[in-house]
Amino acid sequence: MAIFEYAAAPESVRPKIREQYGLFIDGGWAAPEGAEYFSTINPANEEHLAQVAQATAADVDAAVRAARKAYDKYWRKMKPADRAKYVYRIARAITERARELAVLETLDGGKPIKESRDFDIPTAAAHFQYYAGWADKLEWAMRAGQAPDPLGVCGQIVPWNFPLLMAAWKLAPALACGNTVVLKPAETTPLTALALAQIIRECDLPPGVVNVVTGDGRTGAALVEHPDVDKIAFTGSTEVGKIIARSLAGTGKRLTLELGGKAANIVFADAPMDQAIEGIVNGIYFNQGHVCCAGSRLLVEERAHEEVIVRLTERIQTLRLGDPMDKNTDIGAINSREQLDRIKELVGSGIDQGATLVQQQCELPGKGFFFPASFFTNVQTSHRIAREEIFGPVLAVMTFRTADEAIEKANNTPYGLSAGIWTDKGSKNMWVAGQLRAGVVWCNTFNQFDPTSPFGGFRESGFGREGGVHGLREYLAH
Ligand code: NAD
Repeated sequence: MAIFEYAAAPESVRPKIREQYGLFIDGGWAAPEGAEYFSTINPANEEHLAQVAQATAADVDAAVRAARKAYDKYWRKMKPADRAKYVYRIARAITERARELAVLETLDGGKPIKESRDFDIPTAAAHFQYYAGWADKLEWAMRAGQAPDPLGVCGQIVPWNFPLLMAAWKLAPALACGNTVVLKPAETTPLTALALAQIIRECDLPPGVVNVVTGDGRTGAALVEHPDVDKIAFTGSTEVGKIIARSLAGTGKRLTLELGGKAANIVFADAPMDQAIEGIVNGIYFNQGHVCCAGSRLLVEERAHEEVIVRLTERIQTLRLGDPMDKNTDIGAINSREQLDRIKELVGSGIDQGATLVQQQCELPGKGFFFPASFFTNVQTSHRIAREEIFGPVLAVMTFRTADEAIEKANNTPYGLSAGIWTDKGSKNMWVAGQLRAGVVWCNTFNQFDPTSPFGGFRESGFGREGGVHGLREYLAH
């Protein structure tokens, strides 16, 4: 299929990035106790962006103490309607600075600017907007007429795939419910969380209500283990989620885990095929496949398999891979060299185990971390590519003959985060959805997110919900 050559359309805004960032503790910027900094880079060209502080256990302790003081002194006592004003103010400030934040997200994380501009940043603002509205109506979120208590100090740990959005998912309900927070962004993407800290400072929130400590897993572990934290909210890998669950067992601290996934995207032969192909592409190639709920296992009804493969093979040739700062780019950079190596290792295992690889034919940029849109056919359910989360632009395609077989294959995973169903028949859609063991099931669509709608998994995808009224309950004591 011919593809039009587009002229370059680079985003022109360049936000001011400081050479060095400290920790945001008690309403101000502080140097890390250990005087250790690490570099955060642009994964699209491997260039250094800034030095970021590695918070030690002593820094985490200072942040937790600031959060406790702010909780007791200001935040839990504040009239809920006043708390709402602060949370609204954050939503407005994010919207006002949306373009700058989108560019920062793309520079630090590698995702296409059109995604950070049209999805990450507006959805982050929408979460603050939505939860601000709940702050003075909490008694109606729980048992009617009874004002619920917040939990206290919350430690929140987020990954690198949607850095600002994951921070918003966690901060907005926690703050609206009257909790104070210590947030730990991922080590490869700290810049938008630090920009958010500055926004929070400018919004004049009482000092210590939100604290941001940067660093690697050691900083996260110090936060988890801190005795004065009342709740840990973690989004990240199942492996680290299990470590956290073990460490918190028996402590009485509340815990929510949003972990990995290996979602089935089920396409019946009677599906609206044009939309289904776009849904498959969106399901696996959005954000380079760095999506916990990515539709990474495609289950196609045998009668439609050939058609789907022909159309998908053509469609991936039209995806534009390259500079994430170009507004036409569909597939940006892989977030880190480590993640690229992991994708290559798993793709290698797929080839070794006998699956057939189909890839987008394009030149990869000379610098930076890139991987072409890919899918495998001839996949067995026992193959590693069908079982393990690849977290990259790689799809495993399998077939089924009956709806029962589709359901059995879809549920044949230790995960349970999301799923998709494509069929023209409404009753089949609803019946299959009811059988799938996944927290979110999209029917004739994929990757729809809204602050009013709960999101979360079960089994090895974690527990607890973010979004909607359900998301409030995770931050209230009863
Ligand atoms: P990760 O688990 O390696 O890291 C996540 C965060 O945890 C980072 O901030 C990291 O520094 C921190 N961390 C690492 N070790 C820690 C420890 N021992 N104690 C406390 N914190 C620690 O995951 P990742 O590679 O950054 O993110 C990718 C994973 O996140 C994927 O598995 C993906 O599916 C998952 N994810 C899930 C959701 C969801 O909502 N379910 C959303 C996005 C990403």
